[in-house]
Amino acid sequence: MMNALGIVQKLRPGDDVDARCGKCKDVRTHAIIAVSTQGQIERVQCRTCQGTHNYKNPSPKRTTSTSTRSSSGGSGRTSATSLSPTGPTKPYSPREKFQIGDQISHPNFGIGLVNDVRDTKIDVKFGRETKILIHAG
Ligand SMILES: [Zn+2]
Repeated sequence: MMNALGIVQKLRPGDDVDARCGKCKDVRTHAIIAVSTQGQIERVQCRTCQGTHNYKNPSPKRTTSTSTRSSSGGSGRTSATSLSPTGPTKPYSPREKFQIGDQISHPNFGIGLVNDVRDTKIDVKFGRETKILIHAG
C-alpha cells in the first residue's frame, strides 16, 4: 500500500495489496502471502474469493522501449557516381582552363559538362554528345 505521500512502503506478508484476481476477473484487494528477497510480491490471497495465486501487478506494464529508431533522412548528400556540375556555368573559351565537373556554356553546343581533361583537350558532354574541345590546359 502507498501512504498519503505516495511512498511505497516495504511490503510484508499479511499486508494488503491490489492485484488482479484471475478468479474474480478483476482487481481486488489481496493479502500478501510471500514476498521475494528483492521486496517483490510473489504470492497473494484474494480477500474476495480466498484464492491464492501469483501476484500480478494491476497496472499495465510499462514496457521499456528498446526499439531503436531507424536512422532516416541523413544529410541528403549522396556520393554521386554520375558526374554533376560542381559550380556555376562558365562560358567556354579556349583560353580558359577547365577541369572535370565544370559546367560550361558553349556558343554552338550549349551547356555542357566537362567529364575528362587531357592536357589541352577537354571532353565535354553536351546532352548525349561528347565533344572534344581545347582549353588552356
Ligand atoms: Zn478473487
